[in-house]
Amino acid sequence: MRLQCASAIRQRPLVSRLNRIGQSRNYRVAILGGGITGLTSAWQLSRDPRCESVTIFEKSNRLGGWIDSERVPVNGGEVLFEYGPRTLRSAVPTSLPLLYLATNLGLKDELIFTSKKSPAALNRFIYYPDRLVKMPGPSQHQESFIEKITRIIEELQDPVFEGLVSGIFKDIFGPPRHPSEWAKDESVTEFVERRWGSSVAENLVSAVYHGIYAGDIDQLSAQMLMGELRNNEGGVAGVGGFVSGGVLGSMVSRAMSKLKTRKMDDFMALQALATTPELIEHQARITRFLKESSTFSFKRGVGQLVEALVASLEASPKVKIYKNAEPTTLGRTLLSSSISIECTSLNDSKNSIWANYDHVISTIPPVSLAKIMRPITTDKTRTPVNEAPKIQNPGHTPYLLGKHNYAVTAMVVNLYYSNPNLLPVQGFGYLIPRSIPWTQNPECGLGVIFASQSSTGRTADNAEASQDTVPGTKLTVMMGGHYWDGRQEYPDHDTAVRMARTMLQRHLNITATPAVAKSRLQKNAIPQYTVGHLDRMYDLSKVVRHEFDNRLVLAGNWYNGVGVGDCVNQGIMASTFGIGYRLNAKSAKPSRWRPWESYDYKGWDLRGGVVTAPARLIDSKI
Ligand SMILES: Cc1cc2nc3c(=O)[nH]c(=O)nc-3n(C[C@H](O)[C@H](O)[C@H](O)COP(=O)(O)OP(=O)(O)OC[C@H]3O[C@@H](n4cnc5c(N)ncnc54)[C@H](O)[C@@H]3O)c2cc1C
Repeated sequence: MRLQCASAIRQRPLVSRLNRIGQSRNYRVAILGGGITGLTSAWQLSRDPRCESVTIFEKSNRLGGWIDSERVPVNGGEVLFEYGPRTLRSAVPTSLPLLYLATNLGLKDELIFTSKKSPAALNRFIYYPDRLVKMPGPSQHQESFIEKITRIIEELQDPVFEGLVSGIFKDIFGPPRHPSEWAKDESVTEFVERRWGSSVAENLVSAVYHGIYAGDIDQLSAQMLMGELRNNEGGVAGVGGFVSGGVLGSMVSRAMSKLKTRKMDDFMALQALATTPELIEHQARITRFLKESSTFSFKRGVGQLVEALVASLEASPKVKIYKNAEPTTLGRTLLSSSISIECTSLNDSKNSIWANYDHVISTIPPVSLAKIMRPITTDKTRTPVNEAPKIQNPGHTPYLLGKHNYAVTAMVVNLYYSNPNLLPVQGFGYLIPRSIPWTQNPECGLGVIFASQSSTGRTADNAEASQDTVPGTKLTVMMGGHYWDGRQEYPDHDTAVRMARTMLQRHLNITATPAVAKSRLQKNAIPQYTVGHLDRMYDLSKVVRHEFDNRLVLAGNWYNGVGVGDCVNQGIMASTFGIGYRLNAKSAKPSRWRPWESYDYKGWDLRGGVVTAPARLIDSKI
């Protein structure tokens, strides 16, 4: 299927379905952090005629945050190494704002989609106990119903699935959970063990969470990460039914009535983009296209999105980007209630400059934000070149920000071999569950991505495309994560490469020497949503809104989703609803794509704090 050119979508002022609460004058915004959340916020603001100026403060000398793609010259061409995100999920509606952003930036022909029928989408493996086991799923070949069932039954005989069949019965016949208990959080392990048993948690679910969060299922929050499944715990028959049907029964029944559980925020983010007739048409086309793909990326890697965003921001006269700029103080001014930021002068670290903003969007780690909130600047090491304003005591905000402080560190090792036939199987890669004991996983491996296979796909015009210009085998080995919590020292480059190669030899029998080996230690890179995360986030949000007069907005991977698509959606929400826009009751009428009919959406005021819809999950036919 061809995806029609999105250049037909004219740039329009963003607010056809939104109107602004109260304030009629123009406004100025500061953004802390130049990762994907901060850059997306700036892009959205740059399109709003009422926004006077946008200033981005980025502490490092590069933009993009964890997004980091490198083109590496090799014999005869180039290969792409990713040190951060590499695959973007095609899920609808979550991915639509990201795809809209990409096409609007002129990247439509640069997109590469992985077909749902390709080995990279169909073949995902778990390493257990000493070999790769394929996860059951659709086959690449045409199968009758009987053949499919027979194959799946055969696949389920493998020891990694021990306890799965009995777990399914446990779930179906087990007692349903009363909806009033869903709000009580628990760990992913507790939820999975209660429904399906401990082997399922240990062998399967722990591996999946190694892949997404490099995290420990004993600590991760089921409410935050498995809300869609937990909401089905009432079963089909409900509480008191003879056989509840469990989560599985509910899911089958919902699938039959074509009902899906979606995040309300994803629809809100889509609404916050200018909803022109062209966008609606584009959305419908892109949705049909996405149905056939599992993930997507860009020809030059995810970093290409950052390059295009930065170019678009640099071309906007109202956007200023400061790199190597780390604000030193942030506070609400006593007299005007705007937010004041002190930042050291770029040329002279002894001097600092104060500036006032109507809104601040913070996308930096909460602990870093807490550090710069001080009642009054008493730091004598800097002399403000302009008058320091009187700022208010930050109240409880720094304390609550400090509670969001746990992220894991991962070592990413990229290897390229010129031999294209090193892998014993085709697929996306494999994950290592925590049931593999330390003696058999001394490197603390989390998983291996067969990057040469996930680097190819089809463009929007259905042509074959690859991120690499030469054949070969490209692998990414991920190590560390929660296993390295509390460590003071990490492997250096040589040790990391040696560990990665030992792992590959043990798991895949690869003994060849790579032509290129590059590693990157990503410290505190993946925030962990631990048990109680949602409650902590709502508490923090409430207090920040109150103490900063709805002018300080919190967004990004520390709060409401770590995927690049989630971060884009948070950036869009932050820079529209977060700074005072709300759904325009006349033109944002409920429909399939605007599923808020059962809520009093006209009253939703989402200014300040973590910008999220009052209802988290909703039923949708999309
Ligand atoms: C190894 C790895 C693999 C991943 N793989 C995937 C994947 O395949 N798919 C996917 O969807 N997602 C993936 N992710 C997650 C995704 O990349 C991140 O969640 C997302 O990029 C975070 O964006 P952000 O803008 O919210 O935060 P960040 O990228 O952390 O950006 C924040 C920015 O703020 C700056 N900053 C920090 N402190 C200050 C300060 N005091 N003042 C000013 N600036 C400051 C930082 O330098 C940074 O540039 C991966 C992440 C990692 C680490």
